This record gives sequence, structure tokens and C-alpha cells, in this order.
Amino acid sequence: MPRRAKIPAINDEPELYRALGLDFIPPELRENCGEFEAADHGKLPRLIELENLRGTFHCHTTASDGHNSLEEMVAAAQELGLEYIGIADHSRSSVQAHGLDAARLKVQRTQIRQMQRTLKNIRVFSGVECDILRDGSLDFDDEILAQLDFVVASIHSTFNLSEAEMTKRVIRAISNPLVTMLAHPTGRLLLKREGYAIDIPAVIEAAAETGTWIELNAAPKRLDLDWRWWPLAKEKGARCVSNPDAHRTARLQDLWFGIGAARKGWLTKQDVVNGADRSRTKGKAGVMECWSSGVMTPSNPTQHSTTPLLHRLSLRQKHRQTFAGATGLDEFRHR
Ligand SMILES: [Zn+2]
Ligand SMILES: [Zn+2]
Repeated sequence: MPRRAKIPAINDEPELYRALGLDFIPPELRENCGEFEAADHGKLPRLIELENLRGTFHCHTTASDGHNSLEEMVAAAQELGLEYIGIADHSRSSVQAHGLDAARLKVQRTQIRQMQRTLKNIRVFSGVECDILRDGSLDFDDEILAQLDFVVASIHSTFNLSEAEMTKRVIRAISNPLVTMLAHPTGRLLLKREGYAIDIPAVIEAAAETGTWIELNAAPKRLDLDWRWWPLAKEKGARCVSNPDAHRTARLQDLWFGIGAARKGWLTKQDVVNGADRSRTKGKAGVMECWSSGVMTPSNPTQHSTTPLLHRLSLRQKHRQTFAGATGLDEFRHR
């Protein structure tokens, strides 16, 4: 009579994986995208967790098309326990969203700086969500962008270009040293609108090369860039920033969806700018220091040249000398 195989006592999923000789595979990774091999070799990444999230950079107020005031957005971010919030209202070409012109942007910047003096536990960054125009130029001149702490570049118009034209347009925009991050890189609206034609691998390469962060837009209707692209972004050395693109206080909580999507993309807290430690919140603003400290050294350093980065830093410094009010993210990094 054949002996019956002993069935191990299994009480939960981790025990089941252990019985199979595998590390536990988090549910988000169960897509048959290499997770079994990684679990077999002890190579699964330690995925980012909600509690790793420190802040966010892309939020709107009533100054453009948001539904809550600057004060209300900041208070809501404090309530969520965020250490910083970046305000990025629309720029002038987004007329339908009451985009800010240079004068209104300046007023908001001053408001934020004044407000900061009264705030203790949160840092408010002054930025803009700057439209990328049809030819890849930006909605504001460098002189204006250089006065801000950060710049989010996005496409909100002329979606019908060819893939080659759209890719060139976006790469031109993110090659501007004053652009900190590229928002919702495909423009898709889930169940409503397909993303525009764009060569994402080429954009990822350019983002890695220029030190531009790529947004994982956490709004559930977007979740853009899609989770499937993040392993490639990570491999190429492009960093993710997870933003809610909140247009009202309640939507700040979309940040949690962003973390879910980042986990699905195999990202760790080190891969997500606003999920990492403070000292890692770096981008073009302090890119040379990041470079020399090795923090931003990409997985394949031979793809990169330091010469363009030196040029970027000098451009940034030039603007900062011209506009003494600009603090950039450098100041934040040293706090
Ligand atoms: Zn947008
Ligand atoms: Zn936005």
C-alpha cells in the first residue's frame, strides 16, 4: 500500500510559501512577472510601505482648479502626518483650469513663504504644474521657473501628435534643468481615455539621464505611469515620485493608492523620492551633490555623463543668484 504524503499543517499564506521553499510573495507581485524565481532565490525586494511616505509634491488649490484653499490643503497634509507638501497649481495655458499667470504665481509664492513662518511641523514647497506646449517648450520662461522650489511638467493639450513627435516634445521639456518631475506621463484616464502615443522607454532613459523624477500619479483615475513600467525605470536609474494630484483635501489620501501601485511595480522606499529618507529627496536642484555622494548613481553609470549635469547646476545657480528668493529643494535637504 503506497504511503500517503504528509500534508504539512498550513495556517496562513506565509506558511504555505515556506512549505514550498519560497519567500513570501506579496499579493501585489502575483502577476507571473518573475516573482516566483525571485522568491526562490531570496531576491524579492522589500516593497515600499505606507508609513515610508514622507510628503508629496503635486497638489492644487483654489488658485487654479482646486476646491480647497492653500491653508486647507496644508492643514489636511498635516493631519495626514506628512512632513511636506508641494503646491503645484496649473500654469497660464491651462485656461480651462484657471491656470496662473506669472503675477498670480508670484503672489502664491509669497503667500507660501509667509505662511511657512507660522508653520512648525510641515514644510510647504512652492511649485507649479507647468504645461508642456506643443513644441516641448514650457509655459513659463526659465526666469520664472527658477524662482520656484520645484517644477512639475505636464501635457494637458494637443494629445494627437505622432509617437515620435510626442516623445520628442516630452524629452525636450524634461531636458530643461529647471523641471523637477514629469507628471502623468501618458495622460491616460482609466476607463475613459487611452494614453497618448509616446515612447515610454525613451522617456525613461531621458529622465534617468537628466535626473528628472517620473511621477506615479496616484489619482485612481490615472495611476500613471502604469505599474508595468516601473521595473524598467528602476533598472535605468529613473526615480519615481508618487503624487496625489489632489484637487481637494480628501484626495490627498489618494497617496495610498500610489503606494499600492508602486508596490505592484516592485519599488522599494529607496526608489520613491517621497518615500525615502529626507536626505534622499533630491533631484536636479542638488544633482551634483547627489552625484558626488553617490546617492543618485544609477545602476549603470556608464550611461551618464557628468558634463551636462555640471551645466545644469551652473544654470540653476545663475538663476538662484538672480532671484535670491528661490530656495529650491536644496534648503530642504539640509534641514
Ligand atoms: Zn495635470
Ligand atoms: Zn495636477
